[in-house]
Amino acid sequence: MRAYLPAYELIVPRTLDEALALLRNEPGVWRPFAGGTDLMVLLEAGKLEHRKFFSIRHFAELCGIDESDGRVRIGALTSYTDVRRSEVLGRHFPMLGQAARETGGIAIQNRGTVGGNIANASPAADTPPALLAYGAEVELVSAAGTRRVPYAEFHTGYKRTVMRTDELIAAVLLPRPSEGARHFYRKVGTRRAQAISKVCFAALAEVAGDALGTVRVALGSVAPIVLRCHKTEGVLSGQRLDAGLLKSAAAELAREITPIDDVRSTARYRTRVAQNLMVEFLSGLSGEGV
Ligand SMILES: Cc1cc2nc3c(=O)[nH]c(=O)nc-3n(C[C@H](O)[C@H](O)[C@H](O)COP(=O)(O)OP(=O)(O)OC[C@H]3O[C@@H](n4cnc5c(N)ncnc54)[C@H](O)[C@@H]3O)c2cc1C
Repeated sequence: MRAYLPAYELIVPRTLDEALALLRNEPGVWRPFAGGTDLMVLLEAGKLEHRKFFSIRHFAELCGIDESDGRVRIGALTSYTDVRRSEVLGRHFPMLGQAARETGGIAIQNRGTVGGNIANASPAADTPPALLAYGAEVELVSAAGTRRVPYAEFHTGYKRTVMRTDELIAAVLLPRPSEGARHFYRKVGTRRAQAISKVCFAALAEVAGDALGTVRVALGSVAPIVLRCHKTEGVLSGQRLDAGLLKSAAAELAREITPIDDVRSTARYRTRVAQNLMVEFLSGLSGEGV
């Protein structure tokens, strides 16, 4: 049932400084409203507990995709359509384009933002596994200044983050992967479009001949938070690619993830799919398969 609209307030601060002052002066009272694609679902369902919002959509400081010093900065207000159309992201961070193409439908891709996807902190969100595999940092802004947090430390529990009540996500920063690095992204859902992930798998690997260099692996929908799989990475990084390694990595991954049974899937199915995707990823790294 739809919420009672007059109980809600949405204001439009003129500047980012004005918005940050609101957050500082009335802690916990105001929340940002970006694309509204998560917030409006809650409103329509009568489950939007928070009452006071301010729009951030017009803040130029939170927009744009810029490249400098081997790093790319993605403004928090970047939409999925912006991601899909970005030449620099397509060239260096193809998993983000893939995540954006498989997010919702065209309307959601036009409205939904990368910042909103991260702040909403759903373990089933689709850009976070790619951001984790790319070793992203999150730039947070408040009236007190700016700080950066490794994205791997951003989510602290189900729907919980390190963000303070006076902070906004300003941008995501990505170090450019090495030339020749291999990118692997798969979203498994009930359909190809408009489906919430049952498992989402992203990995980045450096490969030299039949040996692996640094490997990063991250998954969605298999734990209370989107998960960077450090233990599995430890099994893989610097090792020779062979059938034994596939087995050890798949076994370690099953130990590291903690999927649950829910309306979309079962823990058993999610574990099996995660392991299959690990095997697919590693098999694709050697020309002949391993
Ligand atoms: C039909 C449908 C399909 C969808 N499909 C997918 C999908 O396939 N994959 C997927 O991952 N998601 C999906 N979503 C969820 C949603 O579209 C994304 O999470 C989107 O990125 C949210 O961004 P937004 O700008 O709309 O966030 P909003 O709804 O505006 O905000 C979401 C939350 O983030 C906070 N917030 C927003 N921006 C900031 C910021 N800069 N700093 C701090 N806090 C902020 C808000 O206060 C709010 O709590 C879908 C939603 C719908 C309705």
